[in-house]
Amino acid sequence: MKSFEAVQHYFNRAADKLELTENMRTLLLTSKREVQVQIAVEMDDGQLQTLIGYRVQHDNARGPMKGGLRFHHEVDLDEVRSLASLMTWKTAVVNIPFGGAKGGVTVNVRKLSLRELERVTRKFVDEIHDVIGPDTDIPAPDMGTNAEVMAWIMNQHNKYHGFSPGVVTGKPVEHYGIPGREEATGRGVGILALKTLGRLGHKAQKTRVAIQGFGNVGSHAAKFLQEADCRIVAISDVSGGYYCAEGINVLEAIQYSNKNNRSLEGFAAASRISNEELLELEVELLVPAALGGVITADNAPLINAPLIIEAANAPIRPEADDLLNDRGVVILPDILANAGGVTVSYFEWAQNRQYYRWGLDRVRQELDRVLSSAFEEVWNLAREHEVSLRTAAFMLGIGRVGRATVLGGIT
Ligand code: NAD
Repeated sequence: MKSFEAVQHYFNRAADKLELTENMRTLLLTSKREVQVQIAVEMDDGQLQTLIGYRVQHDNARGPMKGGLRFHHEVDLDEVRSLASLMTWKTAVVNIPFGGAKGGVTVNVRKLSLRELERVTRKFVDEIHDVIGPDTDIPAPDMGTNAEVMAWIMNQHNKYHGFSPGVVTGKPVEHYGIPGREEATGRGVGILALKTLGRLGHKAQKTRVAIQGFGNVGSHAAKFLQEADCRIVAISDVSGGYYCAEGINVLEAIQYSNKNNRSLEGFAAASRISNEELLELEVELLVPAALGGVITADNAPLINAPLIIEAANAPIRPEADDLLNDRGVVILPDILANAGGVTVSYFEWAQNRQYYRWGLDRVRQELDRVLSSAFEEVWNLAREHEVSLRTAAFMLGIGRVGRATVLGGIT
């Protein structure tokens, strides 16, 4: 099943419960606009390289479209389309006034110099500047992009359209960003993990955690959960997995990775395991926070964790989702679990538009409020309808987008 087909599958399961008509399903699933552009850039060695970039704008019934920008060598239109659709349901689940979008460039960022990365970013904005904007579509960081990339996007867009910092979120705090945005997705994962553990009767102190991916989301989730007294027994990145039964010192691992070109390669305070082994560890909580599609029908029977928090987007394939649900594994779905990032992006956008600065305490407090309320709604809906948390989250998101679509007038 390809990425978009997987989202469709989850969508239809919830749409059945909501008794949506076929015509309404087609309307809600179809992207409003899909843009594919050529990005021709000169590399540092003088060679010309031609890359492909995408921006998919899925739905704007509830507000300007919002979604990250991914720079990764596996990016393709199907993946971007699926992620754009997930953003629509995600913004609706946490009830912030945005629609959904996503962008990507098919490129291996680890092979780009900083100046090459900047040229790729600016060239991409040259191609899409007319279709993004603070009232239409607002990009943000995702895999392979960061605050600096967002600052270049703002700067390049402003050259065409005048000063408007709200065109992009996840900017550096010193450059129209908001404190707490960088940690927001990982922190949100941590907040929601503790809530779910509590509902399942687990104490944080006794919880062993394995986290796949140690980038922005994985490292902040690890830090938050360690501060909450969980034992982080395994972490990993593209270089492999690192295991310590007594618990890994997360701050030490973050410092090591920062000094080592954002890689855990050679991290000697833990023993080496593979990324596959990490997923199968005997832990109380598993947090996939790297790529999509890492839990499949093949390895689902080998997963030992009773609880999975989907920090990454779509880390579990639908066939695996069914197998895990049948075994009673509780899964907090991506459209709720990693919504902390877009929530704080909303605060940043609102702050940019008001020319008013928020402090870190207020950001954290509001993040907690928004996520807690979404969690309660999803949890209660799941109980009421006797469905999985994923189906409940889709029902909540689709219901809100559907109502906004009808209220706005369809034809
Ligand atoms: P990132 O680029 O900062 O980090 C990605 C991490 O995954 C790195 O540690 C990398 O080494 C690791 N990784 C890459 N390939 C791997 C592999 N094959 N096996 C194991 N690890 C691998 O990205 P991020 O922003 O942390 O995003 C991670 C996930 O979270 C993505 O699925 C993204 O869509 C999702 N997400 C991110 C945000 C955000 O605010 N950054 C928001 C919502 C969802």
